Amino acid sequence: MLHLHLSEIAKIIDGELFAPKRSYSTIIETVITDSRSFHSGQNALFLALKGPVHNAHYFIPDLIEKGVRAFVVSDKESITDNAEFILVGNTTNALQKLAAYNRQHFHHPVVGITGSNGKTIVKEWLNELLSTERKIVRSPKSYNSQVGVPLSVLLMNDSYNLGIIEAGISQAGEMHNLEAIIQPEIGILTNIGDAHQEFFKSIEQKLHEKLVLFRYSKKLIARIDDETVSPVVELFCKENSIEPVFWSTQKKDAPIYFCVERKETSCNIHTKIGQSTYFFTIPFNDDSAIENACHCFATIVALGINPNQVLSRFSRLQQVAMRLEIKHGINNNILINDYYNSDLNSLQIALSVLKQQAVNDHQKKVVILSDIQQTGLPDKELYTEVNRLLGEWKIDKLVGIGPNISAHRDNFSIDADFFFNSNEFESRFPYHSIQSAAILIKGARHFRFEKVSGLLQQKAHQTVLEINLNALIHNLNVFRGLLKTETKIMVMVKAFSYGSGDVEIARLLQYQNVDYLAVAVADEGVQLRNAGINLPVIVMNPERDSFQNMISYQLEPNIYDTTLLQEFVKSLDEIGIRDFPIHLKIDTGMNRLGLKSEKELNECMRIIQHSDAVKIQSVFSHLAGSDEVALDEFTHSQFEKFERAFSLISNAFSYPIDRHILNSAGIERFPEKQYEMVRLGIGLYGVSQTGLSLDSIGTLKSTISQVKNIDEHETVGYNRKGKVSKQSKIAIVPIGYADGIDRKLGNKNGSAFVNGSRVPIIGNICMDMLMLDISLIEAKAGDRVEFFGPNVSITELAQQIDTIPYEILTGISQRVKRIYVQE
Ligand SMILES: *Cc1c(COP(=O)(O)O)cnc(C)c1O
Repeated sequence: MLHLHLSEIAKIIDGELFAPKRSYSTIIETVITDSRSFHSGQNALFLALKGPVHNAHYFIPDLIEKGVRAFVVSDKESITDNAEFILVGNTTNALQKLAAYNRQHFHHPVVGITGSNGKTIVKEWLNELLSTERKIVRSPKSYNSQVGVPLSVLLMNDSYNLGIIEAGISQAGEMHNLEAIIQPEIGILTNIGDAHQEFFKSIEQKLHEKLVLFRYSKKLIARIDDETVSPVVELFCKENSIEPVFWSTQKKDAPIYFCVERKETSCNIHTKIGQSTYFFTIPFNDDSAIENACHCFATIVALGINPNQVLSRFSRLQQVAMRLEIKHGINNNILINDYYNSDLNSLQIALSVLKQQAVNDHQKKVVILSDIQQTGLPDKELYTEVNRLLGEWKIDKLVGIGPNISAHRDNFSIDADFFFNSNEFESRFPYHSIQSAAILIKGARHFRFEKVSGLLQQKAHQTVLEINLNALIHNLNVFRGLLKTETKIMVMVKAFSYGSGDVEIARLLQYQNVDYLAVAVADEGVQLRNAGINLPVIVMNPERDSFQNMISYQLEPNIYDTTLLQEFVKSLDEIGIRDFPIHLKIDTGMNRLGLKSEKELNECMRIIQHSDAVKIQSVFSHLAGSDEVALDEFTHSQFEKFERAFSLISNAFSYPIDRHILNSAGIERFPEKQYEMVRLGIGLYGVSQTGLSLDSIGTLKSTISQVKNIDEHETVGYNRKGKVSKQSKIAIVPIGYADGIDRKLGNKNGSAFVNGSRVPIIGNICMDMLMLDISLIEAKAGDRVEFFGPNVSITELAQQIDTIPYEILTGISQRVKRIYVQE
């Protein structure tokens, strides 16, 4: 961004400056909004954003400590005299105004992209196609929201000569803001699908809203093959005097007509514009890739670049990897794979994930990095900058792979090894030199870093449980939205986080600032501590044998009876520990663990009053039927008993004690009983009792090992249970009841999702395999099979075998590898 004085910024964003005179001229070079990915305070301005569930003002004292000096805030109470502040009404608006100002000082063309699908791919492909012709500044990854767009536009400065920015909206009215920030001269309208349709009345309304982005554009690129879309877009261009750059694969008289000839794995595309004809090939043959490539071609024409200069590059386009994958590596390492195009911005995003997975500095941080291309910076400056970034993020070791990065080895001051290519890495790298580290592997697709990752990865099976960490964050935020900001959240990570993994989930939750974690037994807590988790942890089922571990690892027990309390106090007394936090569990009707009678409760209180070894951190109880309307009267009786027990306790102690009784369904149905804390479980993992819009976090998937044809008189599997009535096609899939697929799903009681359709499980399920009847669909060996996930809900699966989603999730066996993905 432009380098601006603090006082100039205050003017631009209409804010009131609270700073000593001399600091009016403090120069600001970068803007940060995420306190966690922050790494250097010099010349940075922190904008404290406020969302429905998130308030960044809270992090200000911490940031001051870390060296940030300048802040934009909307809460007057946050202003102190040990830093400089600008006070505004709304910090998100301030960010947008600042971005719009930066945009006005960028005197080169800006391309704006919106639509339902394809935005990021079109942007990335344009960047690949035009990297020789232009110095491009573009949105990092898919930063296209009300916050992402201004952050992208703030990256613009004089060293670039073309901007490509994407804009996404989820509600009517939002595009107006984004238009004012991006001000695109050239617009691209990608395909209009039904994504986010829930917030719009109709496809037309959504289309009109998206077109707002192009109101003042000079040219608009759009496909005119859709009968709903084309008339609206045509009229829009006419009314706003925009030059249409329309294209079609059907209408030969369109301004640009593409004739597509599909091959087995690629496509030849012929095109005619006026008198000129062009021909290019793309290495894909699916509809969306064809559409995205045509948008790119039309944009090149709209920019006035001679297409002949770039045609040959279309054949080298790569798939765009949008997601990071987190996997278990050899030697107890954690691998973070990022095949997204490497550039400095996406490197920073990936480094923040590395920091999260390494739990700050708990584990060594290693970065394996390819050459970085297409940044517009001279190599020497580029690698000096990379070295600076790696230093700021406290990276312990760099492994550089590629001719350019190797050639610039002298620019690196951190511990580093270099390899000319991945083959050399394979033969020369001392694999055992990295143990128990978090490793970021970052190299764009053409560097074939899949190979590098494959060498460091634990043997992966075809059958995996893929956990979507973005979905988990989404679900957490949905629940935060139901609660007051000050209510604490304890997340239940017992039973390997309901089957979804252990330390990875806890690390993410710690990064997301939840308040407490709960495990079932002490060993689970020890594992969390060893992985660097320092959140308070409660152990629901403390066993006497584990008291020593609980004390040394600071794991707080659930105290459910007097004997347990006496013995725990004794263990503490022996080593002279005082004020150890404990949690009193009241049995209000579940008749599981808990103090039930008033006599028991009084006895416990007496012990606690006469000892200084323990201190009551919280009092809690558990609902037996929070998800069942028919039990609401009973639930209310539980609340009453709980409140009565609590008042006895709180009257006897002078310090504050937290209360909690709500589990996930309880939070959804009785938010008025949130007290000081709630305990979130299944809801985080994507199951709602009341139809909240949660995302499914787990996908259990495998691939077809073999396909075979059988005759009508043949049978499939053990005991010849799989009978067919005609010639059939069968797929064998390497997942069985030992992986957690209940045997009751066999013999057509259950199904799987393959290539867009549901297909039944035929015959008995075996220990390690099962068979699908795929007679009605196209499928071949290697195709993907989903058992639950986005296309098959866990709730439905549970109903088929008369159980609950909890049992399905926790029943996926440990031999099924968990893979984590994050966008
Ligand atoms: C497991 C558990 C929860 C979480 O329940 P969900 O229904 O998964 O939200 C809460 N409290 C206690 C005591 C639990 O054991």
